[in-house]
Amino acid sequence: METKYKTAIVGGGAAGLVAAARLSEKYGGGVCVLERGERAGRKLSLTGNGQGNITNSDVSPEHYRSGKKGFPDAVLAAFPYESAREFYRSAGIFLTAEEGKKYPLSKQASSVTDALRFRIEKAGGKTAFSFRAVKAERRGGVYIVTAEDGRRVTAETLIFAFGGAAAKHLGTDGTAFALAEGFGHTITPLYPSLVQLKTETEPLRGLKGIRAEARVKAAGRYAAESRGDLLFTDYGVSGSAVFAVSGAASAGGVLEAEFLPDFSERETAAMLESRAALGMPLTGGILHNQLGRMLEKRAGGDVAALARLIKHFCLKVTGSLGFDAAQVSAGGVNAEEEDERTMESRLSAGLYIAGEALDVDGDCGGYNLHWAFASASAAAAHIAEER
Ligand SMILES: Cc1cc2nc3c(=O)[nH]c(=O)nc-3n(C[C@H](O)[C@H](O)[C@H](O)COP(=O)(O)OP(=O)(O)OC[C@H]3O[C@@H](n4cnc5c(N)ncnc54)[C@H](O)[C@@H]3O)c2cc1C
Repeated sequence: METKYKTAIVGGGAAGLVAAARLSEKYGGGVCVLERGERAGRKLSLTGNGQGNITNSDVSPEHYRSGKKGFPDAVLAAFPYESAREFYRSAGIFLTAEEGKKYPLSKQASSVTDALRFRIEKAGGKTAFSFRAVKAERRGGVYIVTAEDGRRVTAETLIFAFGGAAAKHLGTDGTAFALAEGFGHTITPLYPSLVQLKTETEPLRGLKGIRAEARVKAAGRYAAESRGDLLFTDYGVSGSAVFAVSGAASAGGVLEAEFLPDFSERETAAMLESRAALGMPLTGGILHNQLGRMLEKRAGGDVAALARLIKHFCLKVTGSLGFDAAQVSAGGVNAEEEDERTMESRLSAGLYIAGEALDVDGDCGGYNLHWAFASASAAAAHIAEER
């Protein structure tokens, strides 16, 4: 069976649902989302530990990386935080008031998914479920998308919003990149980001489950620094600060943690000396007991060496927990091959690529969903105005 649409959208995730919500307002039933799963927006509903950190009050370009320098800038400028807020408002979703990470007021990511699905359905937009697109081609001026089970959809314009290679249990195993390759697109190397890191484990023996506030630095693929939670595990380290720099870390590189980030090395040494003068264990009351004892042992009782170690605790990175555990994959469809304002392919007119599928990844904090929504909005706007 073959059905013809104005626009077909491969992937009913964050980007696909936003593109469909916008386009169905103009084209109604002329829009169809093709989703491999049995439901749309499954990942979106689980984001932010189910609370949905959907955007950030500061979505400036320095929070993003792409193989093409400056690629996300035009889209972010056209879709700043205020545009996201307005878009959500128009869909009946209101955002939390605090600056920084923004959530729906319900603190339920599923309320965003529901609102988008409601908007699409109300406008008459269609969704085909269990439609795993395995082939896409352009013939006679129309796009033809074929599903694994043989169903075919034709459309004047096509949006690839099939996501990346992270969290394959949520439908994104990276196999859909072949669809873009079919149009001559190249895929830049993919690697997991916002993920737990494997490190040498010998220095961490006995620390499993212990958390500490730290400033964490990694300098591998690029240099990154973040302050927050560091959690010791049996394979290495996790926690918000580690997640934030994980994309920068590479196997063989070093992860540096600075404990007591509000105090200088000199102030730290002074605290340790005053404890020594009282005849007390050096790090007790300053650091978590077990962490302190491990550092003391390594410093060999020398206060200056201990202060230095507290401020520069280095671990050799051996890898990460990989794509399955990662929140996003960095890399993707080569941004050089896309129009940076409209997300239209430079290789096939009327083909658009949005969201994580593109070689753009953002920091932890609502940036990746903002990118998915912003890039999908850019593609939808261009289709509605120009095609
Ligand atoms: C556990 C978790 C928590 C996260 N939390 C946050 C957060 O709080 N804030 C934030 O900004 N980001 C978060 N992210 C990242 C964010 O969810 C993604 O970057 C974002 O969803 C990407 O949107 P997308 O539409 O490009 O891809 P996705 O949302 O991944 O959607 C892609 C869709 O395409 C479908 N698909 C794939 N291949 C095919 C095919 N061949 N045919 C048909 N359909 C196909 C998939 O089933 C999926 O539904 C989180 C990610 C995870 C895994």
